[in-house]
Order: sequence, then structure tokens, then C-alpha cells
Amino acid sequence: MKCTSAEFENFRNIEAATLRFGDGVTVLFGENAQGKTNVIEGIYLFARGRSFRAAKEREAVRFGERVARIKLFTESGHEKMELGAEIPLTKPKSFYKNRIKCEKNSEIIGEFRAVLFCPSHLSLIYDGPAVRRNFLDIAISQIKPLYMEYLGRYNRTLLQRNALLKAAADDPSCAFEDMNEIYAEQLASLADKISSYREEYIAALDENARAIFREMTGAREVPTFRYKPSAGEHEDRRARYFHLLTAHTDREIRMGATLFGTHKDEIEIAINGKEARQYASQGQQRSLALAMKLSEGEISYRESGEYPVFLLDDVLSELDVNRRAFVLSAIRDRQVIVTCCEPSDFSGAHMIRVSGGRYEE
Ligand code: ATP
Ligand code: MG
Repeated sequence: MKCTSAEFENFRNIEAATLRFGDGVTVLFGENAQGKTNVIEGIYLFARGRSFRAAKEREAVRFGERVARIKLFTESGHEKMELGAEIPLTKPKSFYKNRIKCEKNSEIIGEFRAVLFCPSHLSLIYDGPAVRRNFLDIAISQIKPLYMEYLGRYNRTLLQRNALLKAAADDPSCAFEDMNEIYAEQLASLADKISSYREEYIAALDENARAIFREMTGAREVPTFRYKPSAGEHEDRRARYFHLLTAHTDREIRMGATLFGTHKDEIEIAINGKEARQYASQGQQRSLALAMKLSEGEISYRESGEYPVFLLDDVLSELDVNRRAFVLSAIRDRQVIVTCCEPSDFSGAHMIRVSGGRYEE
């Protein structure tokens, strides 16, 4: 997978710009607040389907303008694509494939595969379970379009069930049982499917990240990545979820929230059997996080036959010399787009100087 060029219009501080990317490493360098991350954000929008940093996408529309547009030109095998995004200030955004508007925004996911590294990923291990679920969801969605579909349906049903639980707290006479049974049925079936994808992905992660971690650290410690489904270990997860969602409703009504399901899953990460979140050193945690991100690229390659594009926003300056050298050598033959303030350590890279939303090759 490659992106050959991108065009930006009224996106963040970019009034209008066309950027070309090298087949290998492209470095976007410049002082702070010039528009380096803005480019990474714009490119990754196509991989993830939404911005990785704006809660409200209209924030990305250039101040004083009404609509932001991005085009990304990609190549996958021999197939060339023009992907487009349009973000109006007052309406939801739209995506385009070869200038044809997608009916659903989720259709864009999987067309352009990329792995993003940013400083917040270095906390993948010690942060709460939500960041690890998020890692899984983004990684799996890009290679398994159906997963995305199930996840979307699951999240919508979860919102409906939570609304029902709150309604039941306000009005005990409402027809709770019948509705709950329908939602529990739907959630259990979707949770079962989501679980299977996660289980398979984490098994691949365990194999890949373990090897990468050992290579990176040269250590004898063995990391493990295990899926910890909120349903526990059960033969029939679907039946188990249905049971959980119908057996504890008094408590759920009191809490006004669904307490069981894949939105409570966890990836358990350990080193030599000891939970990394509590026991790993900071350095080990960073190595684990990097190993997870590098594995994301390897697994994507295994599934699709092509490496994704690696986007490194500001991470290299956060790493010590050894880890930095390891990461760069692990992705040396791939297409990589890196941002940094000091361009010095890249010889032979395609260099783009960034200043005030302008890009100079
Ligand atoms: P750093 O090295 O600090 O990470 P950067 O080059 O990555 O800097 P960006 O995050 O890409 O910086 O760009 C930030 C700039 O974009 C800031 O000057 C900010 O004010 C500007 N900006 C953000 N959103 C908008 C917007 N909607 N309209 C205009 N400018 C914006
Ligand atoms: Mg930045």
C-alpha cells in the first residue's frame, strides 16, 4: 500500500497544498505549530474513518472557512485510487472513492491501510483498558470490514439498551423485560462475533509482538498478550452474554449502564507472567507498546499481502537511541511518513520543509 500524493484545501492551517510522498521515507520537518501533524491527521483520516485527534471534526475546517477537503492518491498492487474527504462546518463529513460518494462513511475503511505511531501510544500499556480496545478496534477494522459493521451495530444497540435501563429506573412500570430480552439477544450475538475477531487478532499479536519485543530488547523476558473477554472463559460465549445481560438487571438499572459485554474486554499484557501494567518498567512498557504497533503492520501484511503505510508523528524524538534505531530498521523497506523538528538523522529521505501551512520539497 502506498500513498503517492495528497491535496489539502482549508484543512486546519493549510489553505491549499499538494504534497508528494516518496516510496521510502518522507520527512516533514519544521518548527512547532507549522502543520506537520495536520498532514498526518489528514492522511490517517482515510485509514480510520475519522480524525485521531479532533473530537469534533469541524474543528479541522480552517478558521473562517466553510468546508475542508482532502484528496489522497493511493496505490495498492496495480490499482490506483483517488480517495476524497469533504468536511463541511455544519454538516457531517463525506468520503469519496474515485470521486464517487460513499453511501456510508464506513465504506472507506480498509481502502487505505496505515499504522499510526504517536506519543500517546507509548502509554498503551499503562493506560486503562479502553486504549487497548481502541487499538484492537482500529487494527482489526482495517483488515476485516465485517468487524467494523458488527462493532457499529453493537455500539448502537448498547446505547439503546443503556437508554432503556435509565428509562426503567425512572419508571419501574415500563415494559422492561420484553425489550431487554430483545437487546440482550442482539448484544450477545454481536459480542460473540466481536469476541472471535479479537481472540484471533490477539493470538496473532501474541506471536508477532513477542518476537519483536525480544528482538528489540535482546532480553530473555517473554511477554504475553492474552485476550480477557468480559464473559470469562466459556465454551458458548453467546449464551454466557445472554445470561449476564438478563440475570443482573436490577444492578444495571441502578447503575444506568450495561455492565457486561465486549465494551468491557481487556488485553492482558504480561512479562514473564507478571502483569505489565503494574510490574513492567517504563522502558519495558515502551518496548511493549512499540512491539504492538510494529505487529499491527506485520499482521496487516499477513492479511492483505501488502505492508500498510507507517505514519510516525513525533515519536522518534521521544525514543532513546536504541529503540529509535530498532523502529527505523524494522520499517526500513516500507513507505514511512515521519514528522520531526530536526531533520538531521535521515539521509536519503524525501524531505519536506513545513512552515505556516506551506510545504516545500
Ligand atoms: P508540533 O511540532 O508542535 O507538533 P505541528 O507542526 O505538528 O507542531 P500542527 O499540529 O500540524 O503543528 O499544526 C498546528 C497549527 O495548526 C497551529 O498553529 C494551529 O493553530 C493551527 N490550526 C489548528 N486547527 C486550525 C484550524 N481549524 N484553522 C486554522 N488553523 C488551525
Ligand atoms: Mg505535531
